[in-house]
Amino acid sequence: MNVYDGQRIAAMLLQRGYAATEKIADADIIILNTCAVRAKATDKVFSALGRVRRAKKTDALFGIVGCVAREAGAAAFKRIPDLNFVLGPQSYHKLPDILENPDTKLLNIDLGGLEKFDELPESSTSPAVAYIPIQEGCDHCCTYCIVPYTRGREISRPFENVMHDVRHAAATGALEICFLGQNVNGYKYSDNTGKAFRLSDLIRETAKLDAIKRIRFTSSYPTEMTDDLIEMFRTEQKLLPFLNMPIQSGSPDVLTRMNRPYSLDLYIDIVDKLKAARPDIQISSDFIVGFPGETDADFEKTVQIAKQIRHINSYSFKYSPRPHTAAALMPNQIPENVKASRLAALDGELNEIQREFNEACVGETMACLCEGADKTGKKLVYRTPYMQQCIVDAPENGNAPQMADIRITAANKASLRGEFCDQN
Ligand code: SF4
Repeated sequence: MNVYDGQRIAAMLLQRGYAATEKIADADIIILNTCAVRAKATDKVFSALGRVRRAKKTDALFGIVGCVAREAGAAAFKRIPDLNFVLGPQSYHKLPDILENPDTKLLNIDLGGLEKFDELPESSTSPAVAYIPIQEGCDHCCTYCIVPYTRGREISRPFENVMHDVRHAAATGALEICFLGQNVNGYKYSDNTGKAFRLSDLIRETAKLDAIKRIRFTSSYPTEMTDDLIEMFRTEQKLLPFLNMPIQSGSPDVLTRMNRPYSLDLYIDIVDKLKAARPDIQISSDFIVGFPGETDADFEKTVQIAKQIRHINSYSFKYSPRPHTAAALMPNQIPENVKASRLAALDGELNEIQREFNEACVGETMACLCEGADKTGKKLVYRTPYMQQCIVDAPENGNAPQMADIRITAANKASLRGEFCDQN
């Protein structure tokens, strides 16, 4: 979501005649686009602001946008008095106000809904992967999560507005569309005739565009995985056989305290339905370890479910208490050292699952999307349909295809090696 927001902000500045620079000392405006999902990320924002403040030109404007801005609000100006602007994730389209009135302070952390999508200009080119938000906010109210506070209640964008963005991306260079939302598979929109649209409608319509070769979406909530959406994995071959569907914990007790009201049986049942629709599908998850009250036995259930589903490309985190959340006030907070050892144990299992999956891919041929060259310029980095990184020697003639069939020749736990299929 932040990648998309950053691209929209950059497009607005480019249209106003700004150009990107790598050097803080050269910049006329410096914007930190921030994430508040974990305490560590928030702390990093304020230490980065301190560094920016010392390195920037005296008259350069600087400020924060995104979820830390919403979380900190006016207090951000108290911590960093010469900060120029603090704009929440739904009000960064107000940035032009500070460009026009640089001597003022700008604070706007309103939850304005969908206004930002209409007010900022579109980029004239799209990257190969276009991230397209289809909704803002979340109504699930997981007890550990700050998102309902920072991004507000869930609102789905109008179907036609999303499809406008998709067609624009396809016409300006995108090959892959990644639909985004905190609860992306909960997308629901009714137009003024009462016609209802779901994520499956967006996928079906997007798949009709010749320029678009791959479609994916993130992040999914298990109970929103409806049959029409599962059916898309059977019927739309452009939809990648890879799904991020966070389970967070394998313990029913912990899931209850997290306010994630699904059973493990239901999660397993959804995975089975997905596999019936698309036998080659792989599932990724997010995991939180050390949630308040989590026992060793609870944690063991998390390891077991990861091993049973064989989650690949997963994200695991130590529980991090966040303001405005119920879990931060729960008793039996888990000591840091216990969280750290559980995280290391889970990561060890997830790495092993990933290594086994990567090794099983050796010998396969996969349609991969080029992300660009590595630092040496001699190797190209591709993404497989399962989001694995695959390194390939750059062709000597410099003509690297953006989409290519790549034969996987070697693997380790972090990445794959491959060669173009027309090489012998
Ligand atoms: S579903 Fe995701 S975004 Fe929504 S409250 Fe739960 S963790 Fe946060």
